[in-house]
Amino acid sequence: MNEHAVNDSEILLQTTGLKKTFRKGKHDIHVLKGVDIAIKKGEMVAITGPSGSGKSTLLHILGTLEKPTVGKVLFGPERQDLFALGDTALSEFRNRGLGFVFQFHYLLPEFTALENVIMPALIGGYARAPSEKQAREILEFVGLGQRLDHRPSELSGGEQQRIAIARAIMLRPKLLLADELTGNLDSVNREAIMQLLVQLNQGTGISILVVTHDPNVAQKTHRIIELRDGMVSRPPQN
Ligand code: ADP
Ligand code: MG
Repeated sequence: MNEHAVNDSEILLQTTGLKKTFRKGKHDIHVLKGVDIAIKKGEMVAITGPSGSGKSTLLHILGTLEKPTVGKVLFGPERQDLFALGDTALSEFRNRGLGFVFQFHYLLPEFTALENVIMPALIGGYARAPSEKQAREILEFVGLGQRLDHRPSELSGGEQQRIAIARAIMLRPKLLLADELTGNLDSVNREAIMQLLVQLNQGTGISILVVTHDPNVAQKTHRIIELRDGMVSRPPQN
């Protein structure tokens, strides 16, 4: 795939001069050293790079789970400066605007697939009946229409990640952020999960950002952003 597959040039998310420094004892660790990236509406992008290059740190900042030391994250056509929002507005934005999937699914073990997927809607104060209808449809879409009443422990690793994806898109976020979501899966399940993300991206137009060190996963996206030592590594211009 290539960038020509994206015809909507509207920028959804942009960073300006993003830096992140952690203080470790007496030392500063400069993890991100000035990252400028932009993700377009409808785009599916991979962030790759060696272990320790700052991929997860960048994703956490983009997901507003962590604050940058310097720099901004701007969202939407109105270029909302996310970290200029107050705490309440920021968590509201995070809950409705973003979906997250991690390497470990963090499903609630005592609840069924359907209940896990409905959960964000219930927490968000939405009515039960329409939320349940939507959760059923989403579980159908991710291929788990026959597993609604199963608990996570009764499902395979690939199925558990499908539920995590279903839960992440329950409130129809504009951007799905995934960190090594296929890290614990075998190659067959990894392939199937990536296929699902591609279908989701193409079918709904949701923008997707996947952090991965796996070239096979990165290849499925429109574009790859490579991090090296806390900076975006620019390929030679052609
Ligand atoms: P990646 O996901 O690319 O493997 P990370 O973003 O997890 O990289 O980590 C990049 C670097 O930042 C690592 O050297 C890591 O030890 C360091 N780091 C990450 N989080 C913290 C933290 N909370 N405190 C101190 N150092 C951290
Ligand atoms: Mg990581």
